[in-house]
Amino acid sequence: MVTVAEAEQIILSEVKDYGSEPVPFEQALGRILAEDIRADRDLPPCNRVTMDGIAISYAAFETDVRSFSIIATIAAGSKPTDIQEPNECVEIMTGAALPGTTDTVIRYEDVEINDGIAKLLTENIKKGQNIHTKGRDRKQSDVVAAANQLVTPALISMAASVGKSVLQVKKLPRVVIISTGDELVDVPETPTPYQVRRSNSYAMKSVLQLCSLQPDLLHIPDEPTATKTELEKCLEKYDVIIMSGGISMGKFDYVPQVLEELKVKRLFHKVKQRPGKPFWFGAHENGVLVFAFPGNPVSAFMCLHRYFLPWLEMSLKQIPNSRFPIPIFAMLNEDVMFAPELTYFAQVKLKLCKQGHLHATPIEGHGSGDFANLLDTDAFIELPMEKSNFKKDELYRVWPFKQII
Ligand code: AMP
Ligand code: MG
Repeated sequence: MVTVAEAEQIILSEVKDYGSEPVPFEQALGRILAEDIRADRDLPPCNRVTMDGIAISYAAFETDVRSFSIIATIAAGSKPTDIQEPNECVEIMTGAALPGTTDTVIRYEDVEINDGIAKLLTENIKKGQNIHTKGRDRKQSDVVAAANQLVTPALISMAASVGKSVLQVKKLPRVVIISTGDELVDVPETPTPYQVRRSNSYAMKSVLQLCSLQPDLLHIPDEPTATKTELEKCLEKYDVIIMSGGISMGKFDYVPQVLEELKVKRLFHKVKQRPGKPFWFGAHENGVLVFAFPGNPVSAFMCLHRYFLPWLEMSLKQIPNSRFPIPIFAMLNEDVMFAPELTYFAQVKLKLCKQGHLHATPIEGHGSGDFANLLDTDAFIELPMEKSNFKKDELYRVWPFKQII
């Protein structure tokens, strides 16, 4: 039996690089960028006007010119027309390129235009005002988005701006989620009173879908030959096998024995935690990893968030010496007592208070089979094994499974 910290360390020492692949940028949301994106030209690419108004030469303003003849009107997207004389100006729109002979833009609110003459209504004018200068944000070939980050809407916007229509992103592992248990029936079926529907598989699949993975689902009966045949095929076909059930001390729990027969090396079996104590983790010599979680829905759900997701993030981001995911801490809202020498992952409701602190209210539920309680809570709070009394206002790490705010 290992501690939570040992289990984490063993799992994170098995991070893998699955390479990268090109994806059209519109389909890359939620993936991890595998290349640096660079500016194809200066950003902005010209001296960009930021207000509708007129453009003048500031030198003319300094020599007391206050009325300017309008010689052209420049729309965004059109080639700028230069002024020739100090008392000339152009009308110019937001987003247009500033003519090289002008250097200052005065907004329409500060001018009066009559018969093609623009008269200034203010003396408060600064040289270079209302201009977003060429290259101010980024220079041509600067990195605008570094590799190993999540492709977000802001990154898609940047890719579009620099004409990067195909992005190289990290390849995702091929994952299968396997349920075991003769008591399980599929969702459309009507279970007898002693059967249950296969909910774990769909819970875990949807968590993975939020990470852009598209896992296959498979069900294996509690029978050693079938377990062996199916697992053997999965070891050929997938990078990661996630299982639920069949790893405890029951008469029909064949999974650990069969995995070892198939040369999946056990890296640990059992973790000093509640829920999720029977968790089995191993690696095949061909690189396939097996996360075999207990069947109890809350246990499987907790283990997936606590162990699989950090492994996935580390595998995809591949930044040496960094820690994923960024830890989130919450303040206990009430005292908790937990005597067993196990790390306790209590289910909590999270609330952000006005001061911006995250508060965690434990909602105990009825053990690891009570998956209804997951709907009333937002996260697991990790209460370390070394203590038994956890006091109100103490801070502990949380593993959210819902959007917090
Ligand atoms: P096991 O770990 O196989 O002993 O299963 C522990 C408990 O979890 C049993 O009550 C199972 O019926 C339940 N269970 C196992 N797999 C699933 C599943 N895929 N969906 C829902 N409940 C499950
Ligand atoms: Mg079972």
